[in-house]
Amino acid sequence: MIAARRHATLALGRFGLAVHGGAGTIERADMGGPREARQRAALARALTAGYALLREGASALDAVAAAVLVLEDSPLFNAGRGAAFNADGRHELDAAIADGATLAAGSVAALRRARNPVLVARAVMQHTPHVMLAGPAADRFARRRGLALMPAAYFATAHRRRAWLRGRVDGGGHGTVGAVALDRAGNLAAATSTGGTTGKLAGRVGDSPIVGAGVYADNSTCAVSATGTGEYFIRTVAAHDIAARMRYRGESLAEAAHAVLARIARLGGAGGVIALDRRGRLAMPFNSALMYRGSVGERARLSVAIYR
Ligand code: ASP
Repeated sequence: MIAARRHATLALGRFGLAVHGGAGTIERADMGGPREARQRAALARALTAGYALLREGASALDAVAAAVLVLEDSPLFNAGRGAAFNADGRHELDAAIADGATLAAGSVAALRRARNPVLVARAVMQHTPHVMLAGPAADRFARRRGLALMPAAYFATAHRRRAWLRGRVDGGGHGTVGAVALDRAGNLAAATSTGGTTGKLAGRVGDSPIVGAGVYADNSTCAVSATGTGEYFIRTVAAHDIAARMRYRGESLAEAAHAVLARIARLGGAGGVIALDRRGRLAMPFNSALMYRGSVGERARLSVAIYR
């Protein structure tokens, strides 16, 4: 009973979704301030966009893409516009999307120009025989698919530039975004999108576009989107490990998610996940000071939270 309470899950019902806007440390200046209010509003907009689709019977894939797109377009999160600066003062964007019904996945790494990396990842999944494209060729692929490219300046915000100039390699680099969804047909999907960690070396790829690390979906178990110090999520193959623990050991979603995060903490990593199982149970554990997060479902009102 105690374990059940400690590892709380929320019941979303037969369909619903959750989003995150990154895990990290508390910046006192932002606490309760106008930036925080705008972040909460953006998370609510992302949830509303995804949920409107699910209610109409659209797929979980459509819902996670729509929700992540809202957060990529917001300058407040470290994905798309507002992405973290790397060591060279540039942006390299990573994203992935995963379809729990078919185990199909699409992923992009080190994009520099594509406005919505999640859409490029989805195009890789749907219009190529591959799972992952990287670098300038991935931006060229986006253009060929008719997806929007933006000048480099579009991605830069004063807030992220200050973090870079302060030399803050903060590991959790606030603001990676992600979504998990369950649709009326019982299909799960997940998506994650990020600018990576502030001050990362050029060419560094984090966990977000690595299927099984920062993103995973399998109808037989769960959908997962992760945020935090990506290297640890890659080393522990975190998202897939949550699904594997459920599949092989019969653990509940919450038990599996907590166990994987505890392992990451023991190794010295920090972050969190949003994880949704095929029965609409949601777990959103994190071992960092905060995680921007929210959910809505057939049986759960829209809610957004940041702190514990
Ligand atoms: N996981 C992301 C990365 O390592 C960063 C984050 O979630 O804050 O690229």
